[in-house]
Amino acid sequence: MNFPLYRPRRLRRTEALRRLIRETELSPFDLILPLFAMEGKNVRNPISSMPGHFQFSVDNILREAREAKNLGIAGVILFGIPGKKDEKGSSAYDPKGPVQQAIREIKKAVPGLIVITDVCMCEYTSSGHCGIIKDGDVDNDQTLRALAKEALSHAKAGADMVAPSDMMDGRVRQIREALDKNGFNHIPIMSYAVKYASAFYGPFREAAESTPSFGDRKSYQMDPGNADEAIREAGCDIEEGADIVMVKPALPCLDIIRRVKDTFGYPVAAYSVSGEYAMVKAAAKMGWIDGEKVMMEMLLSIKRAGADMIVTYFAKEAAALLKKRI
Ligand SMILES: [Zn+2]
Repeated sequence: MNFPLYRPRRLRRTEALRRLIRETELSPFDLILPLFAMEGKNVRNPISSMPGHFQFSVDNILREAREAKNLGIAGVILFGIPGKKDEKGSSAYDPKGPVQQAIREIKKAVPGLIVITDVCMCEYTSSGHCGIIKDGDVDNDQTLRALAKEALSHAKAGADMVAPSDMMDGRVRQIREALDKNGFNHIPIMSYAVKYASAFYGPFREAAESTPSFGDRKSYQMDPGNADEAIREAGCDIEEGADIVMVKPALPCLDIIRRVKDTFGYPVAAYSVSGEYAMVKAAAKMGWIDGEKVMMEMLLSIKRAGADMIVTYFAKEAAALLKKRI
């Protein structure tokens, strides 16, 4: 295909032509909005490193969920900030916990909005780690039992999908078995299959109050240098029963999203994390970039890399823009 026979600019001349041959387009239904649920009434605590995001009590979460639905967003993913934390993270499976309450209320009031729950221990343990500590490290197999209980309590409250994010080995099978044994074989698992130990998670820890009290998460989250291992991780989770596999973070891992998609042909989710959001917000505030345009290009690139759905703090803003464009 040589010039002058092939002139790629012919099809770039007008917006209509460009749109005609566009391979990837975003839709509000590609987007999932993370929400932070806490105890209390009429609570709306701003998260300073994520402008526009808040810790909400259940009454206020309902308002957000309604707004998300009206914008055409596919679903929400819920994180909990419990009233009390202990070594075992036992409030994770409290049927009256803020996440369990939020699930019940949203399912009642906002039909059609997919309610996904983050399943992990780090918001609930006094150590801030994603599991139960034994001899100075997270104990894998003891944590599995707690995760299964947590996932089951979310399913009982009415969650449409559970999303384990802890990176323990074998957790998808344990959760699948617990759900199946209790009459929830119809509830899909979205596993955070490939989750790197990333510095991009910084602002989230403020939001979820889950900074580890000692050490870091490198003994369970993946080393950012590894890509073959990502394929092994995703493969394990699919064999154990994951229905959707997630790659997290998104922007620094576009190559991984593509490899996971091409290798397995499974639905792939990408989590565009708090640091990705904060960088864009900060640079836009300084007037250094056009925040809206960078946001849309970022989300598009994640979809183009192979993600079928994107968990993003930009969900509301992006959906509002997309709605206007149609
Ligand atoms: Zn965690």
